[in-house]
Amino acid sequence: MLNFEDTEIAFTNVSNAKLRKSYYIFQFFQFNSLVNLGGRLAQWGLKWHLPVGLFAKPTIFGQFVGGVTLRETENTVNRLGKSGVFGILDYAIEGKTTERAFDDTLAHKLEMLRYVKNNPNVKMISAKVTGLGKFSLLERVHRGDVLLQSEQKEYERLKDRLHKLCAAAEDASTGILFDAEETWIQDPLDSLIEEMMAHYNKEKAIVYNTYQLYATSRLGKLKEDYEKAQKQGYVLGAKLVRGAYMEKERERAAELGYPSPIHVDKDAVDKDFNAGLDYCLDRFGKGIAFCAATHNEDSCKYLAEQIVARGLPKNDKYMFFAQLYGMGEHITFNLAKEGYTSAKLIPFGPVKEVIPYLVRRAQENSSVEGQTSRELSILTKEMKRRRLL
Ligand SMILES: Cc1cc2nc3c(=O)[nH]c(=O)nc-3n(C[C@H](O)[C@H](O)[C@H](O)COP(=O)(O)OP(=O)(O)OC[C@H]3O[C@@H](n4cnc5c(N)ncnc54)[C@H](O)[C@@H]3O)c2cc1C
Repeated sequence: MLNFEDTEIAFTNVSNAKLRKSYYIFQFFQFNSLVNLGGRLAQWGLKWHLPVGLFAKPTIFGQFVGGVTLRETENTVNRLGKSGVFGILDYAIEGKTTERAFDDTLAHKLEMLRYVKNNPNVKMISAKVTGLGKFSLLERVHRGDVLLQSEQKEYERLKDRLHKLCAAAEDASTGILFDAEETWIQDPLDSLIEEMMAHYNKEKAIVYNTYQLYATSRLGKLKEDYEKAQKQGYVLGAKLVRGAYMEKERERAAELGYPSPIHVDKDAVDKDFNAGLDYCLDRFGKGIAFCAATHNEDSCKYLAEQIVARGLPKNDKYMFFAQLYGMGEHITFNLAKEGYTSAKLIPFGPVKEVIPYLVRRAQENSSVEGQTSRELSILTKEMKRRRLL
């Protein structure tokens, strides 16, 4: 029986000291204004080359990041593997703008793929298109601007990096999940990722796009993409999420005076998310591979129950659940215990470089209603079970 309340399973292999630290970190996230202030200070400190990492490394870094290097992250990967949870590795460097930095990120991703090939506990990697090409260039392509010759060359170099990455993923026989980002660059992301799918997903899913179901248009886009993949003879890889940039999206729409692309309320998002799951389930085994990337217990329970009710295999590697490292342990580990394919997305990288990722995690935990209290109630339950509270 699937039971997300089983905290003993959720925190197997977690020491009392680490459990306590997690508890205090999530306690801190309850103070929204302090978290925002901390985020601003961290970004300011980075700009002025202050040693922000000295504070971050022993606290929030260890909660949400697997390690500084691939080797260091290996311990985390193997610990998860012992509980039947597979890793999705992510070299979590964001906000770079130079061609040199993009080449550097590509080199790290290729190194990750060589590692994945030899480690059975890691089955996938995650990537952001903006880690390999300039955000402002993608913005211009999305707007339909006429590109300068130099920009066209830049765009070709981005495409070339994507091909190198996907070809290496194919060679490692692994999957690559491309993140969804801001809606004002999403069109070029979609068309680039679609091009990669048409090329590399002929026999099985190597490349996955992400569908943010908080956006009113994305359920329709998922259906459109499946139809297209069917017609053109490739497998659609789909990662379903609710979406991480709600406030930013709404603020920008209000500022620039266009209708918000985000659903008006959470109910509408939840409905589209589960409708997305149904759509994928109905077509499972017919040219679709999908991942439910969520910390929402109801959605995970729904998918788990549907898999059983429809007689689908729990452990199929092309239909899986994923949570972020450091969150939703009660979901990931209990799903794995019941035999479902269950994964953790594990970011890693130098402390200074992953600060933007950490700030986003802290702010999201602090602002998304119910997220921190859900994590805290699970941590409290386990602390009490171990008589630490
Ligand atoms: C493995 C993994 C990979 C991810 N990859 C991406 C990615 O590539 N791109 C990306 O954008 N996000 C990504 N996310 C983050 C994800 O989109 C969500 O922000 C996060 O998981 C919280 O949503 P939930 O389904 O887990 O939980 P829930 O608590 O059920 O949902 C919270 C989410 O619901 C939506 N929401 C909340 N209130 C409202 C409201 N009033 N109106 C409208 N919508 C509302 C928002 O999207 C909010 O984040 C990923 C998450 C995971 C676990």
